[in-house]
Amino acid sequence: MAIIMDGKALAKKIRGRVKEEVEILKQKNIFPKLAVIMVGEDPASKVYVRNKSKACNEVGIAYEEFLLKENISMEKLLQVIKELNERKDIHGILLQSPIPKPLDIYTAFETIDFRKDVDGFHPINIGRLTLKRQTFISCTPHGVMKLLKEYNIPLTGANVVILGRSNIVGKPLAQCLLNEDATVTICHSKTKNVADITKNADVVISAIGKPRFVTKDMIKENAVVIDVGINRLETGLVGDVDFEEVSKKASYITPVPGGVGPMTIAMLLHNVVIAAKYLEENIEK
Ligand code: NAP
Repeated sequence: MAIIMDGKALAKKIRGRVKEEVEILKQKNIFPKLAVIMVGEDPASKVYVRNKSKACNEVGIAYEEFLLKENISMEKLLQVIKELNERKDIHGILLQSPIPKPLDIYTAFETIDFRKDVDGFHPINIGRLTLKRQTFISCTPHGVMKLLKEYNIPLTGANVVILGRSNIVGKPLAQCLLNEDATVTICHSKTKNVADITKNADVVISAIGKPRFVTKDMIKENAVVIDVGINRLETGLVGDVDFEEVSKKASYITPVPGGVGPMTIAMLLHNVVIAAKYLEENIEK
């Protein structure tokens, strides 16, 4: 039976550390603050935004929300971002995705000051990750890396297969793993014979959004299995992995919920503290 990788417990530990760092910053008259922009009324986004506000509150990070109308123009959206870029009291800016279709999310992300880009989606931050330089790593891949580290999963030379190549999970995660000397394979919807590839992996990470896609016969004995997927079924939340069966064959596995999910928010809080430190240092110089 696999060891369960407890993301909830690790996230709690990280939030505790963030809280301590926020206290230290406050003693230096630095008050870390996150601004969250949401465009429209996407129900899932509303839940995510509420959770972020609550998490900030718990660790003492100040929080301001900008709820913009669904029919806002691109020009107005960019104006809001630019104003937040200028504000000295704001250290982190997060644009909740998705945004309504006619708006261009790439331009919006590029407009965020990269030093306040706590989601790590700005091309400068993505480029820096590729060059293995100091950067904001996007929160979900960062959370996965922290979990792998916490459980001492060897990555040097390990054969890691990622299912999914999105800009927010699959691609940055592949880069993070490459930076740790893993041998990385990325599968996507056009990949042929996915099971033949996953069967050779020491670590399988699924981020595709298909309930119970990864089955027991797709992994090798004692593989490490990380489930990033969140799928809402009538019966509740499930991941991309058939947890019940796969956990009998894997050596380590993350549950859904309670695995990668809580790590994402913890890493966001961590990034806000880093942004506050970085910006304040530069402002003083
Ligand atoms: P996304 O943008 O929809 O990307 C899904 C990826 O999966 C795409 O690259 C797609 O390939 C690939 N894919 C789809 N079907 C596949 C198949 N049969 N075999 C192999 N690859 C396949 O999704 P995302 O935003 O990355 O999110 C993925 C999942 O993670 C979702 O369930 C989401 O809710 C969850 N998520 C969780 C967290 C967290 O905090 N735990 C954070 C973010 C996302 P193509 O590129 O070819 O289309």
